[in-house]
This record gives sequence, structure tokens and C-alpha cells, in this order.
Amino acid sequence: MKELIFFKPYFKQVLWGGHRMRDVYGYTIPGDDTGEAWVISSNPHGQSTVTGGTYDGKTLGELWKEHRELFGGMEGDEFPLLVKIIDANDHLSIQVHPDDDYAFRHEQGSLGKTECWYILDCDEDADIIIGHHARTRQELEEMIGEGRWDDLLRKLPVHKGDFFYIPSGTVHAIRKGTLLLEVQQNSDTTYRLYDYGRLQNGKPRDLHLRQSMDVITCPCQDQTPSGPVIDHGAYETCTLVKGQYFTVDRWRIRKEAEIRQDHPFLLADVTSGSGALDGTTVRAGDHLLIPAGYGTVKAQGDLELITTYIS
Ligand code: ZN
Repeated sequence: MKELIFFKPYFKQVLWGGHRMRDVYGYTIPGDDTGEAWVISSNPHGQSTVTGGTYDGKTLGELWKEHRELFGGMEGDEFPLLVKIIDANDHLSIQVHPDDDYAFRHEQGSLGKTECWYILDCDEDADIIIGHHARTRQELEEMIGEGRWDDLLRKLPVHKGDFFYIPSGTVHAIRKGTLLLEVQQNSDTTYRLYDYGRLQNGKPRDLHLRQSMDVITCPCQDQTPSGPVIDHGAYETCTLVKGQYFTVDRWRIRKEAEIRQDHPFLLADVTSGSGALDGTTVRAGDHLLIPAGYGTVKAQGDLELITTYIS
């Protein structure tokens, strides 16, 4: 199929949301508390919808059900990935996700969740939580039991362009002042470990301490380093992660590049700049699927793309 398939995001309003997605990408957001854009999603809680072309108006879930040829005939009940943009105007709760095995056994056959974050924009002093400082499981349980969150949680500074890989079992939290692109397994299974003691409608939100302690990797693993930046002159590439579930590459195109699509599908998120893909104008904030059998995409302009395929 020789057609690029563009999606319109599903937006989600949340207490910690903001309006950065309108400011940065010009999206028509539903309110100044927009925290998430589900930009490539077949999740029943919020589907992205095809905009333009042969499949105009169809959801990604419908494409997956009715046009499996676009995905190289891949098997599975659900499209395997979910891509979001997240605008954190306040701290998100500290959380951890189980792996597939734990989720299958304890969450009615659900999938686990491995995810990754690419920082699109952030405040100067922004930080993020990835991992923890407990050396043993006993120390982990003590620190959680005593509420020693500042000692426990590993806080890292963030800058635009940083990338973090968060395998299941990694304690993590997005904090105030960060806009990021998240690529993840298509799963909702989340265990909340700590919520800063906040109240929502007068009550604290549920915590899942037992499950969190079951699944947290201890001691925590160091970040998987990204691959080298390879300069090709007219463009440069970097493999941000080649993980168990997905491979994420960053393309910085100065003039032009040829992007080979020889996977069941390739997702592309335009994260900055503007240009064209096979003659179709694209700009920051566009999200698309390049279907199976497409061949090579010619990218032109001054733009940055994040691409994802199934590893
Ligand atoms: Zn998460």
C-alpha cells in the first residue's frame, strides 16, 4: 500500500494538564487542562482517527480489525503500541508497571507495560523520576513503609531531546513542566506507588503498594544508553532504543533522507520543523503510519522525526 496514513489525536483533560500542546503544535485542544494527546492509539479509552485519504474517519482500531494487510498481516487482538504526547503542568503520581507475565497472572490476562519518553520541551529546572536508590528489597520495603520518598526516588534533570527507556518494573514519574512523547506497549496496567499525599475530590487516589513492591526491579537498572548519532550529511540518525517490544529511532533531516519501511508497519511522529514526506507537507505535531509494503519514503525539509517499529 503506497499511502501515508495520518491520524488526528484523541485528547484527554486531566487535573495536571495544561495548554502547551496548543502553544507548541497548534492543536485545537478541548481545554487548558489537556494533559494527554493519544496520537497513535487503538485503545478503547481513546482512539486516534485517520484524517484524509482512503481511510478517512476510521479509527486505528478499525484499521487493525478490517485492514490487517496494512500491518503486514501481523497477528494479535490489539494493535501492539500506543503513542502519546503528555503535557505535565503538575507532578504526575509515582508509578510502576508490571511485566507481561505478572499482568497476565494478576490482571485478568492483561499485558504489562514497557514505555519510553522523548523530551519535546521542558522548563529550565524540570526534572523527572526514573528508578530508586534502595539496594535491597528489604530496604525498598522499609523506605516505602516509612514514606522516605525523597531518599528512595531517583530524580534526574531533564532537557529537550533527552530520551529515557522505562522497562516494566522501573519506578517512574513525569514531573511539572515537561512535554514529552511517550511510546509504549498498548496497556493500561499501572500501579500507583505515591501521589504526594494529594487529594482528588477530597479523597486520596488509590495506591497499589503491594503490587508495586511485587514488580519493582531491585536494585534498579541503569538507563540503557542510546546508540551513536550517525551523520549522513543531509540528515543524521540515532537509535534511541532497540528494546524487547519496540525500536525507536530519531531522524534529524537537514535537507533530505530516504527512510526504508521494511517492517510490518512504521510509525512516524514529526517532533519539530516542517517539510514533506513523498511530497505530502508535514509539520511538527503530525503523526502517521507508514504501512507494510510501502517501500522507501523520501523525506525533505528541515525536520525531526521519531520513528517506531516492532523489534
Ligand atoms: Zn508509566
